[in-house]
Amino acid sequence: MLTIVNYHYIRKSFESKYPSIFGMTNSQFKEQLLLLKNEGDFITINEFNNNYKDLLNSRNNFNLITFDDGLKEQFTNAYSVLQELNLEAYFFLNALNFKEKKVSLVHKIHLLKSILEPKLFLKQLKLELNYNFSKLDKKRSRKVYRFDTIVNAELKYLLNFLFPNDSKAIIIDKLFDNHFNEIEVNNSLYMNESEILELSKKNMIGNHTYNHKHLGVLGKKELVIEITESKKYLEKLTYSPINTISYPYGTEEVITEDVLKTAKDSHHKFGFTTEKGINGSLDNLLILKRFDCNDVIGGKKYEG
Ligand SMILES: [Zn+2]
Repeated sequence: MLTIVNYHYIRKSFESKYPSIFGMTNSQFKEQLLLLKNEGDFITINEFNNNYKDLLNSRNNFNLITFDDGLKEQFTNAYSVLQELNLEAYFFLNALNFKEKKVSLVHKIHLLKSILEPKLFLKQLKLELNYNFSKLDKKRSRKVYRFDTIVNAELKYLLNFLFPNDSKAIIIDKLFDNHFNEIEVNNSLYMNESEILELSKKNMIGNHTYNHKHLGVLGKKELVIEITESKKYLEKLTYSPINTISYPYGTEEVITEDVLKTAKDSHHKFGFTTEKGINGSLDNLLILKRFDCNDVIGGKKYEG
């Protein structure tokens, strides 16, 4: 059995004007690793690659750690803890952040939310879009995001459901440029090349696609670019073959037959989803299940 646990933000503190970035502190991360250690041995990347059949077949539980998005704090904070405990992990990167030195749309939204009062952010978006919420939109937004405040529910609904993808990017880019310097954010938010090379010495780098798009809605041509161009770029950067992919967002809507075929055709052997569960012997290697760190022992949503 193999339990895979995924992380995003790892920082010393998550204080911001408007909390919008969530993750684990360094000490929570270390504590969780120690708790997980009681539940199974951690494996190295080479052990995973060489012995995955035996590991999946085994009645014993093994643990594998992964990080999505190539964030610098995953190197400076998380990797230090991993080294202290003598552990390895996969780090999944988007080529856009390194090849073009740009900031992913998903991170631009996180950053805007951290500095803008939610009501103001919503108002600005509605204004840019020239869009008024219908009664149905209001009702739907409250239902889909029932744990959020009304303003946050409308904000998330607008961002995730009502925007066509391209116009969303244009408007978010514009708002982002009003408040941030993209190059500066890129330098501080993502790893640099020497950090990537350090991780790649132990084959710890994986593909997280080019632009971090929702793959399930893309046409074939764009899908091939998202998956294969990113792999090629990362292989060139690290001088080593890359055989793993983590699908952005990773839910079943994202991982269509076309997505799996494209991943396979471009020589990815292992694919990591965000479907929760423990992996066993019969599982398809291109749709491995993965827990979010909040859902396992020591996490915020863990219920034993
Ligand atoms: Zn991601």
